[in-house]
Amino acid sequence: MFESLSSRLGTVFDKLRGRGALSEADVSEAMREVRIALLEADVALPVVKDFVAKVKERAVGQEVIKSITPGQMVVKIVHDVLVDTLGADDEDSAINLRAAPPVPILMVGLQGSGKTTTSGKLALRLRTRERKKVMVASLDVYRPAAQKQLEVVAGQAEVVSLPIVPGQMPVEIARRAMDEARRGGFDVVILDTAGRLHIDQELMDEVAQVRDAVRPAETLLVTDAMIGQDAVNLAREFNEKIGITGIVLTRVDGDARGGAALSMRAITGKPIKLLGMGEKLDQLEGFHADRIAGRILGMGDVVSLVEKAAATFEAEEAEKMAAKLLDGKFDMDDMLSQLRQIQKMGDIKGILGMLPGIGKMQKQLDAAKIDDKMIKRQEAIILSMTKKERRTPELLKASRKKRVAEGSGTTVQEVNKLLKQHQQMADVMKRMKKMGGKKGLMGAMS
Ligand code: GDP
Repeated sequence: MFESLSSRLGTVFDKLRGRGALSEADVSEAMREVRIALLEADVALPVVKDFVAKVKERAVGQEVIKSITPGQMVVKIVHDVLVDTLGADDEDSAINLRAAPPVPILMVGLQGSGKTTTSGKLALRLRTRERKKVMVASLDVYRPAAQKQLEVVAGQAEVVSLPIVPGQMPVEIARRAMDEARRGGFDVVILDTAGRLHIDQELMDEVAQVRDAVRPAETLLVTDAMIGQDAVNLAREFNEKIGITGIVLTRVDGDARGGAALSMRAITGKPIKLLGMGEKLDQLEGFHADRIAGRILGMGDVVSLVEKAAATFEAEEAEKMAAKLLDGKFDMDDMLSQLRQIQKMGDIKGILGMLPGIGKMQKQLDAAKIDDKMIKRQEAIILSMTKKERRTPELLKASRKKRVAEGSGTTVQEVNKLLKQHQQMADVMKRMKKMGGKKGLMGAMS
């Protein structure tokens, strides 16, 4: 899967790699090619548009961490957006077995999609990996061969298959399966429904009746990945008509494009849970968005490099600040960089609002006018000081204060307030130093 997409993306990123700085034009050019690559992989157009917009938004204006190239940074961003698009949460992709046993799992889909094979694969997987006692039952009363086929597959998977009773209707078979499973102490019952060549009302009604009779913990749509966007439309339709909980993509082994996998989550809102990778019963894989994204990009090394660089960068910054604190020095430039850091974190009211207990204090905060505007004014005040004044704020007497206030479009009162605030912070630093090096700092902070 994804072979052609991988190689196309590889070429796009090769062009970016090794460049000094990444301009908006570079990103736009690369994204034009990513867009074509995705469309060629049969990814649905709205998904492509959204994907490209997200990458652009994150890439342009992004500070490039030192020690990696801008091209590598873009690879990482594309990787992260891929994971988002595929569905980031691993828990989502797990088969839900939390209900009281026997847990019913309903398999639905078109004829020939691989439903029966997948029922056997899933039975084997649950038996061996989860140590579950599994029963399978075929509800396909139209094709006796289908019931027989499931029986054979069950034998290979070494799970029990509900004995065939000729003449029973699907809902009756489903009820019988649940009863037998309850009596026999089974953990899971996999119900393989009848497929049709196309979606029709009759099929949907039948599946809906079975659904209402057994209330499945999972209703899995089995669909052939090779039909690309048709698979996505099918999933949407099944979801609207009967409500599915997840998707199994089959014949992923033969699908070089991978468009269905990429569009599925975004369009249906339902997670892909399993991938069929071949005809053999053990060829069924769990779905992990980050692994798939890695496979699409084929650049796992770049992604982990960027992750490591980001972690190192943050650690270095923190270390620098800690060293400053230990020094006991805190001048106006330090204050400026702190103010900037606060701004970088986004809207402060928003941040404060997230802290427990602070939400209630919002009114007081409003009264105290703690907001972004105030930080901007404070920044302007510091920027209006000379280098010397920033290092030695004590120099700021009346006439200098007036100059700074005018230069920053603020008032002398505001300048005084800032100086006082700075003095308080500097005092704290000094006190920490007296408390004795690192130990003191840790003590003060804990
Ligand atoms: P059903 O009609 O939906 O029950 O489909 P079947 O389970 O009978 O599968 C139809 C054909 O597809 C069979 O020949 C299977 O061996 C094959 N098949 C099912 N899943 C996969 C898969 O993941 N990869 C490949 N290559 N073949 C598959």
